[in-house]
Amino acid sequence: MKMGVQAYSSWYVPQRYSEETSMDPTTTCCPNIACPARGQTGQGNIGIHSCKDKRFLCTECHKTFSATKGTAFYRLRTSAETVSLVVTLLAHGCPLQALVVAFGSDERTVAGWVARAGDQGQAVQEHLVEQPRDLGQVQAEEIRVKKQGGLVWMALAMMVRTRLWLGGEVSAQRDRPLIRRLIERVRRCAAHRPLLVCPDGLVSSIRAMREPFRDPVPRARVDGPGCVHGAMS
Ligand SMILES: [Zn+2]
Repeated sequence: MKMGVQAYSSWYVPQRYSEETSMDPTTTCCPNIACPARGQTGQGNIGIHSCKDKRFLCTECHKTFSATKGTAFYRLRTSAETVSLVVTLLAHGCPLQALVVAFGSDERTVAGWVARAGDQGQAVQEHLVEQPRDLGQVQAEEIRVKKQGGLVWMALAMMVRTRLWLGGEVSAQRDRPLIRRLIERVRRCAAHRPLLVCPDGLVSSIRAMREPFRDPVPRARVDGPGCVHGAMS
């Protein structure tokens, strides 16, 4: 399977932040740790406290909270729209210096936004994608990516049936640790089912694939070296 960097970018970059959709109580949950309804959406316990201040109210614990709580935009002085625009431009290859000049923001400030966006992207990936599912067949490949100031290797994996991107890993070298990190990501997406993985490239990737799928079994209960998480072929 051949894929371009563009295909990966369009999956990776989050949708542009929209002010109109930022106050939807039906897709928001209470972030209060002590609240019985914490983390649950669609329960009808969230209402809008203030559109002007962008604050929700939880009727379960009677606390209010910012619409940006738990997001990359929380407590930023710059508007979410601008931060979203800058991060999107950066993700598509716009030079950092150009953004600093165009938006009048400090270089370290922009770097902070990128780090926040990365943390949120990873949290969304773990919450939505890294859930056990019957993967069936996974296709994995490494591509050589040209970036400003050098080259890197990007390892990617996709669930073939649904074309769901399971994730990607980046490294300066195309080696076993890179493949292993990718396969550990695949493992976190996999239910205990037979799994077919089709590698294309490194011989060492076979070992890098087998190891993460191995579950140790206590010798006191089962004879033999251990069992394998999924039946890989
Ligand atoms: Zn609450």
